[in-house]
Amino acid sequence: MHPQTVNAYYNPEQNVIVFPAAILQPPFFNAKADDAANYGGIGAVIGHEISHGFDDQGSQYDGDGNLLGVPGWFTQKDLDQFKARTQALVGQYNAVEPVSGFHINGELTLGENIADNSGLAIAYKAYQLSLGGKKAPVIDGLTGAQRFYFGWAQVWRSKTRDSELVVQIKSDPHSPGQTRGALPPTNQASFYEAFGIKPGDKMYRAPADRVTLW
Ligand SMILES: [Zn+2]
Repeated sequence: MHPQTVNAYYNPEQNVIVFPAAILQPPFFNAKADDAANYGGIGAVIGHEISHGFDDQGSQYDGDGNLLGVPGWFTQKDLDQFKARTQALVGQYNAVEPVSGFHINGELTLGENIADNSGLAIAYKAYQLSLGGKKAPVIDGLTGAQRFYFGWAQVWRSKTRDSELVVQIKSDPHSPGQTRGALPPTNQASFYEAFGIKPGDKMYRAPADRVTLW
């Protein structure tokens, strides 16, 4: 990747996560911004890349990058559980229809969806730890948890023609930006608490239907 490329990756053979300079600027990271926004932005993206080291692929490599195969350092029981929970994610994403008549392919995008859901969950925990037991300040009328989730949503703002979206849906292992921003929070209890979301609200998902991986 070039320094001016806005992207990031995890390489299991080197066990590294890599962030070119260009992603370390708004909306992902802003040294002058409040912590909550940065944890929800670049924090969750860092969590996303780390998650790749802990998924069905990453678990096949040891810490030195040697390929171990399946189940790798997962126990078979953990791997079975992991598969059961991630299968539920396949269903959640299959149900999303970004363009009329074209649903997301939950299998094709599974690895990246796992990373988005895990990354956001871990970043939220990291933000809570960063507060050191103190209550987050309220800024511009928004709580820390609200700013965290706004930080995540801002990262995924984009505008795409429907025809291009269809190409993405059929070929890109990442879900479209709007879904990446909107779906993972619906799996997290802290999101419901942050905004007082109740049954009947558009982004409400019943507790039994939420997926928690880590
Ligand atoms: Zn990824």
